[in-house]
Amino acid sequence: MQETNRMNKIRHQNPNAETVIPLCVPHLAGKEWDYIKECLDTNWVSSVGPFVDRFEACLAHYTGNRFAVATMNGTAALHIALLVVGVEPGDEVLVSDLTFIAPVNAIRYVGAWPVLVDAEPAYFQMDPDKLKNFLSRDCRRGKHGLRNRHTGRLVKAILPVHILGHSCDMNSIMELAEKYGIVVIEDATESLGGRYHEKKVGHLGHCACLSFNGNKIITTGGGGMFVSDDEKLSAKARYLTTQAKDDPLEFIHNEIGYNYRLTNVLAALGCAQMEHLDEYVDLKRRHALAYAAGLAGLSGITLPLEAPAVQSTFWLYTIRVNREHYGCDSRPLLKYLESKGIQSRPLWQPMHQSLVHRESWSTDCSVAEQLNYESLSIPSSVGLSEEQSNRVIAEIELFTGNTQHSKHD
Ligand SMILES: *Cc1c(COP(=O)(O)O)cnc(C)c1O
Repeated sequence: MQETNRMNKIRHQNPNAETVIPLCVPHLAGKEWDYIKECLDTNWVSSVGPFVDRFEACLAHYTGNRFAVATMNGTAALHIALLVVGVEPGDEVLVSDLTFIAPVNAIRYVGAWPVLVDAEPAYFQMDPDKLKNFLSRDCRRGKHGLRNRHTGRLVKAILPVHILGHSCDMNSIMELAEKYGIVVIEDATESLGGRYHEKKVGHLGHCACLSFNGNKIITTGGGGMFVSDDEKLSAKARYLTTQAKDDPLEFIHNEIGYNYRLTNVLAALGCAQMEHLDEYVDLKRRHALAYAAGLAGLSGITLPLEAPAVQSTFWLYTIRVNREHYGCDSRPLLKYLESKGIQSRPLWQPMHQSLVHRESWSTDCSVAEQLNYESLSIPSSVGLSEEQSNRVIAEIELFTGNTQHSKHD
């Protein structure tokens, strides 16, 4: 089991540590051990090997892409994706404001600048209307492409991040991208296994990136993947992730490359995990149903929604503690749950408020702010038991009851 510092703290505070419910931990119950042993027995432990090939083929097949390139983590895949689609220093990339920071940092790695797009309030994803307004009102077409008329920079790509298991409204985003001639890189990490209009998430843009970090739906401990139908982009991704080696015998390199490859040992873990991905998605969706049934009707608590054409993985089940109802954000609930041995987590600080990205150009991002204030992700491990989810539900019920009392007393 993965131990975070916070989990240790919660354990420490709870004498009966066995009963602590973590936010989201790996589920390693398949052939992980056998496959890793095979690596050691056969001496294939480094960054080439049969499990790397198999893991890549598996992800390409699963997402419906023609090509896949494994990387050492999801951030590396994002860095490479931005390079291969041709984002250059001084360019701009439109990205979700409400996201884990990795995709936004990756934009800076290539010397480009993020333009932050607010979330829509229903599903928390990149707001296509605000994206459209930015492209139509704040940009002009020039000789070299689309330019942000305020900064004068070229707008090269859109990087929608499918957060929490749900998909962005990709039809709208792709339509805009086509209209304005810009490329789309999906960050599909949190929605691997999810669907959008019968298509798999990770096969909706020009290319997509995935992470297999410890808290994702499947894990390799650390790992990532670049996937695409585009042969040229994929070949370039493979080249750049393997030190841009032009002659493997003479060691001739004609470009600056990176050592971003995944090892065979970790890919072995990934192959074992992939055998259970659909089952994990089913389990997460079942946990979501149980939460929805148990928490329905609690006043001041809003449950996550699923758009009609979307199948979410409910990677992290995220509720909202309504500000108007409670006069506070979600943190008192977080503290209460923590005191009961239940780990929860607020959403990420919106990027336009982050010290490192607050200078970025952005749309109005008031929705992301509100969601950050009100939201709380509750335990969502694949292996969450019925007893555990019932306990989470019961404690949230108690909290909402208590808070209402103290407000009315
Ligand atoms: C976890 C995560 C990443 C980063 O992946 P690493 O493998 O930790 O580098 C990128 N994007 C999103 C949306 C994530 O949730």
